[in-house]
Amino acid sequence: MPSPSLYEIHDPRFRSLIVGSAVLEELYSGCRWAEGPVWFDDAQQLLWSDIPNQRMLRWVSDGSVSVYRYPSNFANGHTRDRQGRLISCEHGTRRVTRTEADGSITVLADSFEGKRLNSPNDVVVRSDGSIWFSDPTYGILSDYEGYKSAPEQEKRSIYRLDPVTGALTAAASDFLQPNGLAFSPGETKLYVADSGTNPDDTAPAHIRVYDVEGTRLTNSGVFCHLDEGRPDGFRLDTNGNLWTSGGHAVHCFAPDGTLLGKIRIPQGVSNLTFGGPRRNRLFITATQSVYAIYVTATGVQRP
Ligand code: MG
Repeated sequence: MPSPSLYEIHDPRFRSLIVGSAVLEELYSGCRWAEGPVWFDDAQQLLWSDIPNQRMLRWVSDGSVSVYRYPSNFANGHTRDRQGRLISCEHGTRRVTRTEADGSITVLADSFEGKRLNSPNDVVVRSDGSIWFSDPTYGILSDYEGYKSAPEQEKRSIYRLDPVTGALTAAASDFLQPNGLAFSPGETKLYVADSGTNPDDTAPAHIRVYDVEGTRLTNSGVFCHLDEGRPDGFRLDTNGNLWTSGGHAVHCFAPDGTLLGKIRIPQGVSNLTFGGPRRNRLFITATQSVYAIYVTATGVQRP
């Protein structure tokens, strides 16, 4: 039987997505704020950001952990493009970069309409090569996760970077603070977490869903509400279930937005990603630590 302290079953369907005998493993502890995990299957390694410590860390499947990049320009979210190159959001430089095979850094975006971006937070790449990222103000609110500064952008948007022309388009801007984002398995929909709060604390903790229409996001809707914490980063599995951070838990939602269950995590969860050779292992960044747990679901993200 699944451990009641590890799993919360909210819908019987959740039982088929988890491994009852699986344990939550702590792979590393010692971060100030861990975020932005990205899996490299070709190297059997996980990279992630320790934002306030200005570093990126690397866990290899032999169990070793080392510093991958320091200083990291307060890097936050990462992904890989279809060529396997690392794409990173940096708070400190307020830009999105690509790390080339030789290790050199290419700046992909640092301004929109002549004004600096706020602080790119999280990023995904579509199969057509377009790069989509969120641009909330978290990285310029204080000197803890970046450099305190007034925003130049009027809005907090999701941007799309064209893979051919390099043109940047504000694809949607109806957010308090856009944060994590991920495509549906068929890439026809984009899910976006709005983690923003408002002065009277009435802002809903929800994940939005959009139709992807060319360079734009249309038909804005609410996919799910969280009953604990606020959503930051999330991923989908091959069946369209959405696994998200929220408080001290990973929440799993069915494609229709029904909460299926939760995995309890000892610390506040920021992001997660599927990894491992079968892509059936959840790697979870949670405040000071990185955790991992095997599930029966398989992550949809590529490569
Ligand atoms: Mg984030």
